[in-house]
Amino acid sequence: MPNLEIQNQNVPNQDEMLRIDLCGGQARVMLCETTAAVQRCADVHRATPVCTAALGRLMTGTVMLGLMMKGEDESVTVSVKGDGPMGNLIAVADHGHLRACADNPQVDLPLREDGKLDVSGAVGHTGRMSVIKDLGMRKNYIGQSELVSGEIAMDFANYFTVSEQQPSLVALGVLVSGETVLKAGGLLIQPLPGCPDSLIDQLELRSPMFADISREMTFAPIRELAEGWFRGLEPRILKTDPIDYRCTCSRDRMEKALISIGSKDLKELIEEDRGAELSCHFCHNRYFFSTEELKKMLLRAQEPSGKENEHEHAPDQL
Ligand SMILES: [Zn+2]
Repeated sequence: MPNLEIQNQNVPNQDEMLRIDLCGGQARVMLCETTAAVQRCADVHRATPVCTAALGRLMTGTVMLGLMMKGEDESVTVSVKGDGPMGNLIAVADHGHLRACADNPQVDLPLREDGKLDVSGAVGHTGRMSVIKDLGMRKNYIGQSELVSGEIAMDFANYFTVSEQQPSLVALGVLVSGETVLKAGGLLIQPLPGCPDSLIDQLELRSPMFADISREMTFAPIRELAEGWFRGLEPRILKTDPIDYRCTCSRDRMEKALISIGSKDLKELIEEDRGAELSCHFCHNRYFFSTEELKKMLLRAQEPSGKENEHEHAPDQL
């Protein structure tokens, strides 16, 4: 069961993704609000404002990738391994369902000189962004790119350009006041084949309008913002999708994660005879397995196994 008691009930969930095309399909836009999902993430991890901003930007970029995927059982995991004090950050999206975690979500840093949260200070300026697309029964796709700023939006733009050969304009924003996420959201613009340079120039000219997207979102809902930003470019909403923070952990998945640690470690746990408790990275739910249950898992661990794909739920707290 999810940790409902720490869910912030004051935030109505208006999170959604709008897919918009411009000029009859010459460019595509994904514009989303993720305020409630980021608030939930901040509550679950008791994250500081700077970590909430970093995780929220990562979640917002990840849900765009998640909603680009077609198959029902497909999902995407984006990890950022920077040299900052937050350690590794991970976000997972299966379609509009999001979850995220970081090694150290309670890192606190002073504001930058311009008064903004020091996201790249927390994440790190150098490191790597990895995108793992789980394509269900088919092979996983893994794309990697170097971090260019640690501010996340530019890192996503760089990923799209370098790894997917798709030039992209990306804006991601999280506006936090204390423990409250006031607004969070993002924008992705991608020119499609045949897009004229004049439209690209026009979009670049307009980019300062949506650079500070979370602040803009305090003035108007995203649908209204889109009308203003893309006026004269025939914006057309093609599709809307709901977004929420949802963990998919279960006893069954945790059992598979435990089995994947291998016979040697399982035997050690059995000899210690204290059982094993696993905590989910994304929602902090705990799962306890008795020595008897571990013995059954040992038998299964010694069988030849099928596809192991439990990077989301590696055991961390035994
Ligand atoms: Zn969970």
